[in-house]
Amino acid sequence: MKAKIAGQTLELVEGNIVDQRVDAVVNAANSRLEGGGGVDGAIHRGGGPAIMEETDRLYPDGCPTGSAVISGAGRLPAKHVIHAVGPVWSGGKSGEPELLAGAHRRSLELAVEHGCRSVAFPAISTGVYGYPLELAADVALRTVIAFLKENSRPELVRFVLFGRPAYEAFAAKLEELK
Ligand code: ADP
Repeated sequence: MKAKIAGQTLELVEGNIVDQRVDAVVNAANSRLEGGGGVDGAIHRGGGPAIMEETDRLYPDGCPTGSAVISGAGRLPAKHVIHAVGPVWSGGKSGEPELLAGAHRRSLELAVEHGCRSVAFPAISTGVYGYPLELAADVALRTVIAFLKENSRPELVRFVLFGRPAYEAFAAKLEELK
């Protein structure tokens, strides 16, 4: 599914984040940037040890929740990996929406600062971190749409959803918001 937002493209696909041929792929990282399962495991396995060597060197203190940092992409087809730290869901009254929005916004800012024309996001926080899919889709899509309306880049933002239920949740929400 594709939508035009202020002349730029917002796209939803079902697939695997590591396969994306875009300028930057976003990692669902943790605040220590120490790797893990899910998206994080797939990105470090696919990209090789160069990514962790770089993040250890550049960001020894990790990255706060609600923000993001950028590195090279090792062997992945992308040029950069943006390590975004979403919140752990704990009921929704601990600032989770603002933190999830912040992780997306900072990722987009970094992409623009590094000249990326295309960026692919996974559904940050919706795996091990337990953020309900429909609520995460709402925050993620609203944040990206607002950013695209305010900025002329990136030209393409793609959400890569892992499995049909995640795709359907994002598609229903985009239908409502576009
Ligand atoms: P978090 O810790 O932020 O919740 P996870 O990596 O556990 O991050 O999961 C985030 C989302 O990414 C989940 O919806 C999960 O199903 C999905 N996911 C897991 N592996 C991949 C992958 N290789 N590509 C795209 N999405 C993935």
